[in-house]
Amino acid sequence: MDFTVLSLFPELMASFFEHGMISRGIEKELIAGHCINIRDFSTDRHNTVDDRPYGGGSGMVMKPEPLKAAILSAKKRAPESQVILMTPQGTAFNQKKAFELASNNEGLIFVCGRYEGIDERIYTTLVDEEISIGDYVMTGGELAAMVIIDSVARLIPGVLGSCESSKSDSFVDDRLEYAQYTRPEAFENSKVPDVLLSGNHEKIRLWREKSSLQRTFLKRPDLFEKTVLSAEEKTILMQWCQEIEALVRA
Ligand code: SAM
Repeated sequence: MDFTVLSLFPELMASFFEHGMISRGIEKELIAGHCINIRDFSTDRHNTVDDRPYGGGSGMVMKPEPLKAAILSAKKRAPESQVILMTPQGTAFNQKKAFELASNNEGLIFVCGRYEGIDERIYTTLVDEEISIGDYVMTGGELAAMVIIDSVARLIPGVLGSCESSKSDSFVDDRLEYAQYTRPEAFENSKVPDVLLSGNHEKIRLWREKSSLQRTFLKRPDLFEKTVLSAEEKTILMQWCQEIEALVRA
């Protein structure tokens, strides 16, 4: 999977591509990261990439010509790539969208805005999709691109190490992930649940299923509206209700 980021601050992205899981994925040649400086495509001697908005108002707007040239240059290397504009006005990014983008084998091109954003004519002609990482406004699209690339790259087979896995992650099945414990067995009067030390795989699976349901119920009940409860989930939740009832009556 090829990730190309068009930005006025490509050095921000370069450092992102040089660390952690992303750099390991690049070393293994499972992913590739490219940065393109939009300023390299300005055509005047001052390297101008922005101008005042028509109609007046504060701030500057990114000019269409350098942006178009930068997008076309990225597309020359990967013609079938999907062009994604980072904007607070786009579709909200989530795990489902991460899976969808990870299945795009052709590559992704991220256009990062700065200032007041980019000229409207780029949205309408060269962008395939607009994505937002949340209902807040940042000064630039680079952090948004990093968020998306990070969550998409870890879904590409082989990018996560053999002992890491994305299968049970939160949001994968519209549930939060179960509680996790590691050594030591006892920490400040709190012990790891016995079942996790039992070696009984079926009991551990059921405990994790219950933990996942409890956490989802307590922290993100809205997720239950997205999928129907399975028969096993219903049984586990019923048992939990009975346990709570017994506690209340005691
Ligand atoms: N004036 C624009 C508006 O109100 O919609 C916001 C422009 S913002 C200051 C500059 C750039 O930051 C945007 O072009 C976009 O690339 C990026 N950006 C800011 N917030 C974002 C968000 N929540 N998600 C994705 N990109 C964002």
